[in-house]
Amino acid sequence: MQYISTRGQAPRLGFEDVTLAGLAADGGLYVPESWPSFSSADIAAMRGLSYADTAVAVMKPFVAGALDESELRALCETAYGRFSHAAVVPLTQLDHRQWLMELFHGPTLAFKDVALQLLGLLFERFLAKRDTHITVIGATSGDTGSAAIDALAGRAKVDIFMLHPKGRVSEVQRRQMTTVLAPNVHNIAIEGSFDDAQALVKAMFADADFASRFNLSAVNSINWARLMAQVVYYFYAAVRLGAPDRPVAFSVPTGNFGDVFAGYVAAKMGLPVARLIVATNVNDILHRALSAGDYSVGTVTPTAAPSMDIQVSSNFERLLFDMHGRDGAALAASMKGFESSKRLDIPQAMRAEAAALFTSSRIDADRMQLAMRWAHDRANEIIDPHSAIGLAAAQDSDLDPAVPIVTLATAHPAKFGDAVERATGVRPTLPARIGGLFERQERYAVLPAEIGAIENFVAETAAAAD
Ligand SMILES: *Cc1c(COP(=O)(O)O)cnc(C)c1O
Repeated sequence: MQYISTRGQAPRLGFEDVTLAGLAADGGLYVPESWPSFSSADIAAMRGLSYADTAVAVMKPFVAGALDESELRALCETAYGRFSHAAVVPLTQLDHRQWLMELFHGPTLAFKDVALQLLGLLFERFLAKRDTHITVIGATSGDTGSAAIDALAGRAKVDIFMLHPKGRVSEVQRRQMTTVLAPNVHNIAIEGSFDDAQALVKAMFADADFASRFNLSAVNSINWARLMAQVVYYFYAAVRLGAPDRPVAFSVPTGNFGDVFAGYVAAKMGLPVARLIVATNVNDILHRALSAGDYSVGTVTPTAAPSMDIQVSSNFERLLFDMHGRDGAALAASMKGFESSKRLDIPQAMRAEAAALFTSSRIDADRMQLAMRWAHDRANEIIDPHSAIGLAAAQDSDLDPAVPIVTLATAHPAKFGDAVERATGVRPTLPARIGGLFERQERYAVLPAEIGAIENFVAETAAAAD
């Protein structure tokens, strides 16, 4: 399988290079040159498969040329063997048509584990064959950092530097990162905001000498391999609810548009997806884009679902690429306009095809709390604020009642204990395997929000490791 950039200028690459590169050299995102296609018989053959075996069946065409089937199977068994539920992503029935898919049984209780656990193994495997060492640099406001650190801790030929805003992540979130004492993990608390941390990361990537000297790499959701790993659970859930004979809808709490784009890929591959509901909070750029063609940046309002508090959804570019008829030059021109004016109008004709699959819904704080209470009082389930936004959008949908709707539950409720307690009166408890967090030793550096200080720290740390 070969991959092309959404902006049409970067070289075509195979799966291994795309995984290690992250972003394309022309500023675009990599997508497969064509979508693999599964017949009804191929999908029916997934009935009864374990999660790891489903993952092999779904991902095999995407990794062709880089991994053979037995190598892929070994990686999937290791990655998904670290989940605490035997089904990996179990389905829970809430009422006659509403279902939850629990994506939070990984090591850090975030759905990001599903993709990052595999990505960590892919990095190690591809680097083993090369004489290269890479330096992963990221900024986090909480959840992504711990999932990335867990995935890369102790892996050969990789160091990870994770920047978080000092004092502005919860204590659980900080400890999930800083108590990982593997020698290749380096946490940095920045004296500044999350935006400062993100700007510092961007500045390091933009410093060409520094970026090439340390082989900088990113593990954020623009990495194709992460999206690929997320396509798997759409197949896994739909097959359990009757696919390929019965279509299934999904409601997806959305921020960067990675998770729901994976659902779009599943539909492109032949999975009968009746609808993809893009559930947003009041930070509703995607709802405006999909319902009215208005993709314009507003200001971010902090909410109880912080992983969805975004201004720009980086993965939306991948859908825009298809909306532009996969014309990289045309999309590059649109994105250039968007980057300077902070707005992009998507004409009705361009949206028509996507509109047949996607709907969107903007869920405010009251509606979100109502969904949390409904789940608790009526279905005996405690759900987190992100999942509640998905559930509310699923309940408000006008879909044919014969179609089951699966809401993606993206975080364990105990990660957002205060918000859950406010809505339901119940305080969720952290699972035992996360317990002990408050007794463990922490290690992190505190640095000013200055590019020179961060680059020096990276250089000294790298030299000490040699
Ligand atoms: C990252 C995240 C999301 C948003 O997923 P995207 O792929 O960025 O759309 C939703 N919920 C939680 C809990 C997350 O961590």
